[in-house]
Amino acid sequence: MQPSSSHVLIVGAGPVGLALAHGLGLAGVDVTLIERDAAVSRQLRASTFHPPTLDMLDAWGVTAELLAQGRVTPVWQIRLHETGEHVDFDLSVLGDETAHPYRLQCEQAVLSEALERRLRLLPRVRLLRGVTVAAVGQEADHAWIELEGGDRLQAAYVVGCDGAHSLVRKAIGASFDGSTYPDTTLLATTTFDFDAMWDDLAGVNYIWQDSGTYSLLHLPEVWRVSLHPVSDAPLEEEAKPARIRARLGALFPGHGPFELLEIRPYRVHKRLASRWRDRRLFLAGDAAHLNNPKGGMGMNGGLHDALCLGGLLARRLDGAADESLDGYERQRLPVVRDDIIAQADRNHARMQIRDLVERREALARLQALARDRDRCRAYLRQTSMLEGLDKARSLAAAPGQP
Ligand SMILES: Cc1cc2nc3c(=O)[nH]c(=O)nc-3n(C[C@H](O)[C@H](O)[C@H](O)COP(=O)(O)OP(=O)(O)OC[C@H]3O[C@@H](n4cnc5c(N)ncnc54)[C@H](O)[C@@H]3O)c2cc1C
Repeated sequence: MQPSSSHVLIVGAGPVGLALAHGLGLAGVDVTLIERDAAVSRQLRASTFHPPTLDMLDAWGVTAELLAQGRVTPVWQIRLHETGEHVDFDLSVLGDETAHPYRLQCEQAVLSEALERRLRLLPRVRLLRGVTVAAVGQEADHAWIELEGGDRLQAAYVVGCDGAHSLVRKAIGASFDGSTYPDTTLLATTTFDFDAMWDDLAGVNYIWQDSGTYSLLHLPEVWRVSLHPVSDAPLEEEAKPARIRARLGALFPGHGPFELLEIRPYRVHKRLASRWRDRRLFLAGDAAHLNNPKGGMGMNGGLHDALCLGGLLARRLDGAADESLDGYERQRLPVVRDDIIAQADRNHARMQIRDLVERREALARLQALARDRDRCRAYLRQTSMLEGLDKARSLAAAPGQP
């Protein structure tokens, strides 16, 4: 295939690769998106969409589709399991700066399918599914990828949206420093009605308990429950339906049945690629950064990467200077490091407090924060990712420029 000089190759059609391809396609850039999987993955992954992400996706008409298949959650809360004491964070305080002052709980696959349907209608975007990229590299005047089977494609740029084990990251020679959290998470979906357990539960709940923490997220048809193994039993044992039902039974004695639809154990990491660009090669999304899912920011942050990089690549291919592309890492890397990874880490650390007295003290501090409109607004701007996007905008100008 002879690429045009404006061609961009994207490896990986997760939500980030799809969003990047869609944005570039709308800007009139020739895009080829290559994905190993034959269809959008239905695996349980992201379910939280934050206000600025919904604002961004609205421009593409995608937010209406997510709203139709998701659950609007204006309030999220932190609760003590034993006493029922809780603090509510009401996102309506952000109503003057976002059209979507709430979290939306919706499966990640709904977004991927909506984006894929749209980009298939764009004449300059080609999506190759069931195709694996085996190698990536670059020369002075082009970047290239080699497919399994030996075919080679060339383009002006290659973007790795190829997830945690990114091949493009290796081609860039970036390290992926960080660590893996010691605790495994067990994610399960159930039709059990947790609203019947407390009359003031929110749609997103982080619940503190002496033997650990768990979270309850209400999606349109099901609740998602995240538990952490409490015994030293092998993970396969902890992930068995009977074991999870027993854990839920211990949390809510005398209630049930806990009908489980899906169970997914997973490990959680915090990692950041040391650089996101090497001349014609770029990284975005999980290929560039991983964070703890507490707070629901990984996919959202990856989508923010895609919108930023898509805009810069489109402008570069329309004649902007090569250095303009350096703005991508300059804007996004510090925000991901200092806002997303650090905030998710704080969310995780807070929920590790076990002692009830200490938990009540921490809850009282959060309740005081929620009562103070200015502090609450600042906290919700931060946890809803508005603050990070403001920072990214302020980092957009090259050093030394106004
Ligand atoms: C349980 C769980 C809950 C989460 N909850 C949230 C949440 O509520 N909110 C949030 O914002 N984030 C959340 N996340 C994180 C979110 O799921 C990820 O950040 C997001 O999927 C990253 O998207 P991506 O497109 O960068 O990567 P991926 O979704 O991993 O997609 C990468 C794609 O690249 C393809 N690929 C890889 N290598 C190749 C190759 N060599 N050739 C061809 N194709 C290739 C893969 O098949 C895959 O489709 C959660 C994650 C987990 C595990």
